[in-house]
Amino acid sequence: MDYLPLFFDLRGKTVLLVGGGVVALRKARLLQKAGAKIRAVAPEIAVDLAELVKEGAGEIIRENYSSVHLNDVVLVISATDDAQVNNQVAEDCHSRRLPVNVVDNPELCSVIMPAIVDRSPLVIGISSGGEAPVLARMVRAKLESLIPAAYGGLAQLASRLRDRVKRHFTDGDARRRFWESALSGPAAELALAGDLRAAEAEVVRQLDHPQGKRGEVYLVGAGPGDPDLLTFKALRLMQQAEVVLYDRLVSEPILDLVRRDAERIYVGKKRADHALEQTKINQLLVDLALQGKRVLRLKGGDPFIFGRGGEEIELLAQNQIPFQVVPGITAASGCACYAGIPLTHRDYAQSVRFVTGHLKDDSCNLSWNELIGDDQTLVFYMGLASLGEISRQLISHGKSPSTPAALVEQGTTRRQRVHVQTLESLPDYIAHNDVHAPTLLIVGGVVSLHDKLKWYEPRETAAARFKVGW
Ligand code: SAH
Repeated sequence: MDYLPLFFDLRGKTVLLVGGGVVALRKARLLQKAGAKIRAVAPEIAVDLAELVKEGAGEIIRENYSSVHLNDVVLVISATDDAQVNNQVAEDCHSRRLPVNVVDNPELCSVIMPAIVDRSPLVIGISSGGEAPVLARMVRAKLESLIPAAYGGLAQLASRLRDRVKRHFTDGDARRRFWESALSGPAAELALAGDLRAAEAEVVRQLDHPQGKRGEVYLVGAGPGDPDLLTFKALRLMQQAEVVLYDRLVSEPILDLVRRDAERIYVGKKRADHALEQTKINQLLVDLALQGKRVLRLKGGDPFIFGRGGEEIELLAQNQIPFQVVPGITAASGCACYAGIPLTHRDYAQSVRFVTGHLKDDSCNLSWNELIGDDQTLVFYMGLASLGEISRQLISHGKSPSTPAALVEQGTTRRQRVHVQTLESLPDYIAHNDVHAPTLLIVGGVVSLHDKLKWYEPRETAAARFKVGW
């Protein structure tokens, strides 16, 4: 190890910042965050930098650097593009044993700045010892995406209850186990949602009732198929749930990302093939949560768009079971983007409608008159079986038979195919082609943009990293 990572308490202490440009400004922002008093020294100091320093009640000294500026400082950062000044600053600091950082010049530094992930009070510093700063930044980007933005709330929670928990457990191992469970269960979720007070109450409840482990349900939208379209929150909850209920729309590569040891329950849901009726699914969610389990209900797309998510949480609410609903990318957004069909466009569509194509008893129970305007895009979910009826009804209510219409098959997956026809020709075309569910029907002028905007890059980029199962 070439460098020892240490965290520097700069609150209220003076730091000399030599330089007045953008690089100095970047460093000043960090110093400000750490509560330092900045002494900025340079013949010219940019307005933004001067304002920032003033805000933090620091000093602005518009003159050339000299060693008198080192008086009373605990740290020095040199951020000028003048090599002579940088050398001088470094030399002066070394002779005084003052820690110095010269930006982008590790040889002159006695301390180096890491790439930072800030979830205060949790702070992560990543360093390559100045050898590969780009790599350090890439690692930071990875961590940024892995660690929820509100993680600091969790650290605050732990800090507030630290003494109380310490008093409660004399045995260090028991205390560690308690924290591990508390920092990944319902209390953690409350803290991450920003409700520290409720989170604290939940931890206290767990201290008082160690047996009363409370379950919770995560109703999570898994997006339309490509695992890269999951949200960070979805992924986090997928990796912490103990039981997962999923249906056919959830692709294999997405299921692969669920915690390995989680129990998996298939609850079906293909047209007319319900492995479990909806009411049974609702009840199962309640039962599992009452057993104290963290239950993931994984749904294709978005849980609140033709997903019956509302019904599933209604029973949970009645039973006072904590739950969260996590939005997902709905099939319309996913398919449209991957097919190069903008859902709205200034020249073609001023609005978009998501319509169910699952027509009750094959009848015309949709408000067809509202669907025929030319300035809108129609997106039919579950429309494959009723395609002929949808086309007939729209045309007979006045929509032009030549309106462009696309059927997107297995959208966003490696097997996506886009069939572009007209409203009139599509049903016949589909009848003579092999088409695999799920499919989405997009109707409107925007479909004509597909040829121009379609994406030629093979989908493999995203999906092939996972074994694609459908
Ligand atoms: N909640 C889901 C929709 C559930 S209804 C969402 O927000 O996307 C099921 C219908 O969604 C399917 O019949 C199909 O029309 C559509 N669908 C879901 N995933 C799809 C995909 N990858 N490609 C095409 N259509 C899809």
